[in-house]
Amino acid sequence: MFEKVLIANRGEIALRIHRACHDMGIRTVAVHSTADADAMHVRLADEAVCIGPPPASESYLNIPAIISAAEITGADAIHPGYGFLSERARFADIVAEHGITFIGPTAEHIRLMGDKIAAKDAAKRLGIPVVPGSDGPISNDEEARRVAKEIGFPVLIKAAAGGGGRGMKVANSAEQLAEALSTARSEAGASFGSDVVYIERYLATPRHIEVQVLGDMYGNVVHLGERECSLQRRHQKVLEESPSPVLTAKEREEIGGVVVKAMTTLKYLGAGTVEFLYENGSFNFIEMNTRIQVEHPVTELVTGIDLVREQIRVAAGEPLGYTQKDIAFKGHAIECRINAENSVTFAPSPGRVTSYHPPGGPGVRVDSALYSGYVVPPYYDSLIAKLIAHGATREECMRRLDRALEEYVIGGIDTTIDLHRSLLKDPDIKKGAYDVHWLERTMAARR
Ligand code: ADP
Repeated sequence: MFEKVLIANRGEIALRIHRACHDMGIRTVAVHSTADADAMHVRLADEAVCIGPPPASESYLNIPAIISAAEITGADAIHPGYGFLSERARFADIVAEHGITFIGPTAEHIRLMGDKIAAKDAAKRLGIPVVPGSDGPISNDEEARRVAKEIGFPVLIKAAAGGGGRGMKVANSAEQLAEALSTARSEAGASFGSDVVYIERYLATPRHIEVQVLGDMYGNVVHLGERECSLQRRHQKVLEESPSPVLTAKEREEIGGVVVKAMTTLKYLGAGTVEFLYENGSFNFIEMNTRIQVEHPVTELVTGIDLVREQIRVAAGEPLGYTQKDIAFKGHAIECRINAENSVTFAPSPGRVTSYHPPGGPGVRVDSALYSGYVVPPYYDSLIAKLIAHGATREECMRRLDRALEEYVIGGIDTTIDLHRSLLKDPDIKKGAYDVHWLERTMAARR
């Protein structure tokens, strides 16, 4: 097992990784920008190294500074968390070249899944059903017209290097196609440094359902069930739950089986998530994330498996030590992503947290790096806390979540706690009757 792990991230996930390490008797190294000198993970880690000024490009994405920090402190592994360098194949390569273990899949698998066109192609070859669309990149208007005619309008133009819900444009008709294509292309070029785009059928009422997998170095792969992540704003997840309110045990077993078979063929190592749009009883692959995800705690609460610990164990060469039949699903879990944003306007609200009181009690978990007096910096993602509840049933889980949201005090800044409180009261959410467009549709109707 590793003796010392460097955590190449910040915020709640850095703290989450630190906690997993300490539970395993592993020492930790925090790296941080000057804006994060007072961050919780920096205070709690065994060692801390400042790697640059506030902009992520000069600190959390600064590969030479992070590698130097690992070398100076003698870390034998690096955990990238999510975002930042977690899905940069080049980073995984550089880490390995320095004799340090990258806690994640192979660089080859990161590279494959990082290109969404190649990922869809691989999924198809591995027997995973995909969203109908172009077979490869779209190079001109004529090709776009031909593909759109084949799959039918509306269509979605997506960036091959896309992520974070950005770089997608809908075209409802042939007239809108050329403009959508050129906007998508220039936005993709500006955001991701690549203007390669592809086309997919734009599904009208899909649910986002994703399957969590874990693989070790010896060809063992298991799935840990699904997460339903259909409550989204701007294609970004707001609330996630497990199990999905609509999936049957048979469907779970079937899609889980398809994914495990594919990942076994691929010899996938570590934690990964295969994302689908689920509509009319069928699954359509959209992408695979080769890292730990923000919403991993809901899976941990229903399976009792510590995903970050498992990532570290398999990266160190330990076998999973259990098989699919050992994995049991218990109760229901829901996570609310709490952002430093206004609940109505979604305007960012960085600043000092003047008072802080996290909720507790049966079935409640808070993953957050906040404390009273902490200043939320304006430079990074607005996620400041994840509130996760677990209950024997979905109903009990929702009641506990509501109770916890009511108890939660974060003073001095705006947060999305009120948005979550109103979501939990909504009859559609209570019934589980929502799709990926539900939140934006509902917010538009209330305006
Ligand atoms: P990203 O990598 O940017 O997160 P994804 O491909 O994972 O992009 O898609 C994010 C979200 O965008 C999905 O959960 C869904 O809400 C929406 N989306 C993506 N593809 C489609 C599609 N073909 N039809 C309808 N919605 C889609």
